[in-house]
Amino acid sequence: CGIVGYIGDKQAAPILLDGLSKLEYRGYDSAGIAVFDGQEIQIKKTMGRLKVLEELTHGGETMKGCCGIGHTRWATHGCPSDVNAHPHFNKDHSIAVVHNGIIENYAKLKKKLENKGYEFQSETDTEVLVHLLTDYYKGDPIEAIERVMHRVEGSYGLGIMFKDHPHHIYAARKDSPLIVGASSMGNLIASDVPAILKYTRSVYYMENEEIACLSGENIHFYNIDGEEIEKTPTTINWDI
Ligand code: GLU
Repeated sequence: CGIVGYIGDKQAAPILLDGLSKLEYRGYDSAGIAVFDGQEIQIKKTMGRLKVLEELTHGGETMKGCCGIGHTRWATHGCPSDVNAHPHFNKDHSIAVVHNGIIENYAKLKKKLENKGYEFQSETDTEVLVHLLTDYYKGDPIEAIERVMHRVEGSYGLGIMFKDHPHHIYAARKDSPLIVGASSMGNLIASDVPAILKYTRSVYYMENEEIACLSGENIHFYNIDGEEIEKTPTTINWDI
């Protein structure tokens, strides 16, 4: 239901928790964050209020790293539970994904992936994205994301981290909102402006079937064919 992501020179966890709290008005049944310190992608997720996640991570203190993605979930496929909460991740914890929306053809994709040997942990539609990305990933995240976008039907706002690429976070969307914010302390993604307004007023609105690649200093956008595109930021001149 809500997405926040950050990469820069500050600790990510407190920024993610703060951003998610600004999206609470949308309603949710569980919450989670993934934080990457360049070595391991650490994940904490739980059913219930954000307060539970804050307590679990001591306000983010226990999760060190300047790169991360966070999520509040409004369950559509699979009951609200710790396991079904996002972020979702693959077997070796090398890819982590947060997702807003619904993957309509997930059942068919799940069957195919299971036949290929991928083991599912959750009952969510989202988890097919993790294993599809794992299957398609050959070193280039944009290429893997692009292929997944060609394969899935439905709606998605996505935040993705690859262990092989510790200085980047990735985003993509179709029929589910996603914005990218640029600031001097790093770059951010969010499903809605209030989540990041504290950090920046310079926002890129992602269009359908666009991909973004963020580092602490740069933001690049691509279309679904992996071609780089130019986008212009909008200045937000309202307050929450
Ligand atoms: N369909 C996904 C799920 O049920 C995402 C729901 C959401 O947008 O929060 O886990």
